[in-house]
Amino acid sequence: TSFGFKEVQEEEKSQMVGNVFTSVASSYDLMNDLMSGGLHRLWKDRLVSKLHPFPGMKHLDVAGGTGDVAFKILETINKMKLRTMHNVPEDELQEETQIYICDINPRMLDVGKKRAMEQGLGKDPTLLWLEGDAEALSFDDDSMDGYTIAFGIRNVTHIEKVLSEAYRVLKRGGRFLCLELSHVEIPVFKELYDYYSFSVIPAMGELVAGDRASYQYLVESIRRFPPQEKFASMIANAGFQKVEYENLVGGVVAIHSGLKF
Ligand code: SAM
Repeated sequence: TSFGFKEVQEEEKSQMVGNVFTSVASSYDLMNDLMSGGLHRLWKDRLVSKLHPFPGMKHLDVAGGTGDVAFKILETINKMKLRTMHNVPEDELQEETQIYICDINPRMLDVGKKRAMEQGLGKDPTLLWLEGDAEALSFDDDSMDGYTIAFGIRNVTHIEKVLSEAYRVLKRGGRFLCLELSHVEIPVFKELYDYYSFSVIPAMGELVAGDRASYQYLVESIRRFPPQEKFASMIANAGFQKVEYENLVGGVVAIHSGLKF
């Protein structure tokens, strides 16, 4: 690879990931839409529908910088409340639900908070923004009903630590969900996808974000991430039961899930 990334020490890796996201934070939303052709929104919808959010839940969205997943969870819960609980005062319900958005990079959290403000959610007590590392969460054991991580686990230094932390903080019955760019194995589509990722994405990164290297890093990090089956076995090794995954767009992304019993 152009980075010789495997040889880079772990500490440098986390620093580098930090730099990448600091560098892309401001153009992050636009690039996501461009690179995925807007599909990332549908993928996140799918993630949230698999979560089965409910009013009063305690949820943790890790690597949630931009708030996308958290906003969708909140929206789903609010719709449910409108349908089923119109006789309970809005304030009471609102306070019960807690959606923590945890990200290691304050710049990404700033992007998310700004977006919350723009959507009129700036003062919503449900959304709790928190700087923190997925590998060492500051939450109590057995404290969360749900855990999501969207396009985040690929960038961490120790995937196993993230998974065991997810397991630790979830309550019994709690659900783990991970949305991540994954591996395409369908002939022809795979070749097209390779061309797109190795040629088009870095060029787009340069053009739109003025930053080819960060987007080259992104593409390389997708290649290094464990394939669907391997990642599923890592989730099971962390203690999760009923581990499954669903490929979207032929494996361009996959949603892995597991339950803590
Ligand atoms: N979940 C959001 C989404 O889907 O739009 C943001 C995804 S963004 C590609 C990856 C995020 O992971 C960045 O905001 C980055 O700061 C965060 N991140 C990287 N390493 C992390 C770690 N160890 N702990 C928590 N967040 C981390």
